[in-house]
Amino acid sequence: MVKFLDLKGINSQHRQALIDACIEVIDSGWYIMGEKLRRFEVDFADYCGVKHCVGVANGLDALTLTLRAWKQLGRIAEGDEVLVPANTYIATILAITENKLVPTLVEPELESFNLGVENLTQALTPRTKVIMPVHLYGRLADMPAITNFAEKHGLLVLEDSAQAHGAKLEGRRAGAWGDASGFSFYPGKNLGALGDAGAITTNDDALADTLKALRNYGSQVKYMNMYQGVNSRLDELQAAMLAVKLPLLDSETQRRQQVAQMYLDGICNPHIALPEPGVPGQHAWHLFVVRTGHREQLQQHLSSHNVQTLVHYPIPPHQQKAYPDFADLSLPLTEQLHNEVISLPMDPNLTVASVQSVIDACNSFSLVEQS
Ligand SMILES: *Cc1c(COP(=O)(O)O)cnc(C)c1O
Repeated sequence: MVKFLDLKGINSQHRQALIDACIEVIDSGWYIMGEKLRRFEVDFADYCGVKHCVGVANGLDALTLTLRAWKQLGRIAEGDEVLVPANTYIATILAITENKLVPTLVEPELESFNLGVENLTQALTPRTKVIMPVHLYGRLADMPAITNFAEKHGLLVLEDSAQAHGAKLEGRRAGAWGDASGFSFYPGKNLGALGDAGAITTNDDALADTLKALRNYGSQVKYMNMYQGVNSRLDELQAAMLAVKLPLLDSETQRRQQVAQMYLDGICNPHIALPEPGVPGQHAWHLFVVRTGHREQLQQHLSSHNVQTLVHYPIPPHQQKAYPDFADLSLPLTEQLHNEVISLPMDPNLTVASVQSVIDACNSFSLVEQS
């Protein structure tokens, strides 16, 4: 069986280092907002090539608190519009509506699954204040064009980098393009903790300060509360786990890129449309997502050949019960994508033999066999 993702396998490579790091935290007697977090924040900011990293409890909070901080700083206000790709994971949109901002769902480009400037232009109104590009599946969005567009129209840019740790374009990583960027370290992400964790990266001193207060009851100085904040901290244990795994991220990304290249070179089936890799380094391959007009049959065929697959995502946000107001929206491209996408196994530890068996299973898929 080729598993979709073997998380246990990924973490057990670092088993002893993770255990040692846990013991250090246990023995330190300090479990929240300590040296492990401070160290990881410095290292992850360096890794992304920005001034600040602020650790929070998860990726959703990273996005939600950044928008909230911009409200506190008077840069945006309730009712302002946020351009966001319609095919994103729902968390991006939850961050917007939680802040009483208005999501404008923008159709992505079919080839890259990401926002393109043409559709952004059409969606722009005088109330638009923010763009949230999502580097979906690990592919860095066209950030040179998007940041240009934002500058021209005076918009803030908040990257959703939850799937794109380490993805790079023109030498600049995810997390270093926008005015701020939200990361998730959910266990299955490319840089995953052993529980929930997230962070914001930014070069903006005032934003970083505000975020540090918001995540901690609105307080930077103990018992002095500047904002009605929340409790959303990245704890010492998770920071210690991330510190063990961060130095290995680049080599794991390279392995993902090799797996992707084998798929791109090897899969040749008229029923399967392959993803566009972009320029070298642009794609961190969190997921390898292909499209097919016959998803159910393909998924069954792969399963019968011992290949586990998943769908990211079966229902677009505007068709979720959580958003009845969006139910009447017509987003044909987004709907098409949600009907066609299927994710093949993607794991830095996949063996060449496993990748080849996925390729063979894809290439042996035909509709005749199914009928
Ligand atoms: C995982 C994810 C999030 C949310 O991160 P959590 O840590 O699970 O809260 C947000 N956006 C995207 C695109 C994601 O994939």
